Amino acid sequence: MTKSPDQIASKEKSIKRGLDFIYRLAGTSDGFDNYGSLLICCFALVGATSRDASVRQLARSRAQKLAQRWSRLHPLLPPDASPDLVLNFVLVRYALSRLGSRDVALNAEIRTAIKRFSAQDLLGFDPVIEPPANDLSYRCDCGLKNQRGRTFCKQCRRRLQIQSRYSVWMGALAKTHVSERCGIHFGARYLDVFKWLPAVRPYPLGADENVEYLRDAIYAVTHIVYTLNDYGTYRLRPGWLPREFAFLKANVAPACERKDAELLGELLDSLRAFGLRASHPLIMRGTRYLLAEQNEDGSWGDPDEENIRTRCHTTWTAIDGLRSYAWRGQRLSRPEVKSMLKQWAR
Ligand SMILES: [Zn+2]
Repeated sequence: MTKSPDQIASKEKSIKRGLDFIYRLAGTSDGFDNYGSLLICCFALVGATSRDASVRQLARSRAQKLAQRWSRLHPLLPPDASPDLVLNFVLVRYALSRLGSRDVALNAEIRTAIKRFSAQDLLGFDPVIEPPANDLSYRCDCGLKNQRGRTFCKQCRRRLQIQSRYSVWMGALAKTHVSERCGIHFGARYLDVFKWLPAVRPYPLGADENVEYLRDAIYAVTHIVYTLNDYGTYRLRPGWLPREFAFLKANVAPACERKDAELLGELLDSLRAFGLRASHPLIMRGTRYLLAEQNEDGSWGDPDEENIRTRCHTTWTAIDGLRSYAWRGQRLSRPEVKSMLKQWAR
């Protein structure tokens, strides 16, 4: 089935309205001070991997403007920088490397700074010796990051929300991937994290029990895709990850039914990386949903949501689910995982 010029034009318009929304939030101090590195990464990746030249140019120029603002706000990596701040520096380096810009001196500074931290500090667990942690809490509302195993905050006594193993593993995949792409290594490698894939299978079957748990499992799988295809750069062969491919496909219709644009966006771009075409019924269904559900302000998701990160991330994933990619062939960003995948397929 071929698309009419009208459909293509409306998709492009919708993507640009989404990018405008994120850029407006990036222009606020709340948005930029808290999520600047993530937003730079958003625009850099859209700029580096989109097929449409006008989307690419718009996103690249915005990534660069935001990166200049970031350098003004963070002219130096402070000697007492927290693990989170160091990882934000890494994310900005990764984003800019995707636009062809490198800063050898700053990368060296980051390499020195990151050595002060253990894998436990940076990832929440040590993948060299243990599977992804299932006793790690999210940062408390009071701001404290509590030690593993605590169920109540040490500072304010509030009950803590525990992260699922999937969520911890997803974060570790992403952090080790982007660091290594910049030549920045610390106590654990991407492969140390990736090797736990068999420990997180099988994936949950349905959302009957716990939707959040299912969503975390799906995000973990989309991040297998993103790290193995370097965030929208390469196509992956479904035969490399047959269970993951099937799991993602099985969750498109339920995500539409649950009106979960954030998840749907990630499902669609991951499935496209596996080679599903725009004319595939699942891609068509998801695309129709996203085009129909865009908010007046250009965003996706709940317009009353107060969390800026959620507002931006939902809109970002919807854009990624809709846009076309300039794939650079079918390959794994790390060819060394191929033998592991083969072994686990048995
Ligand atoms: Zn607290």
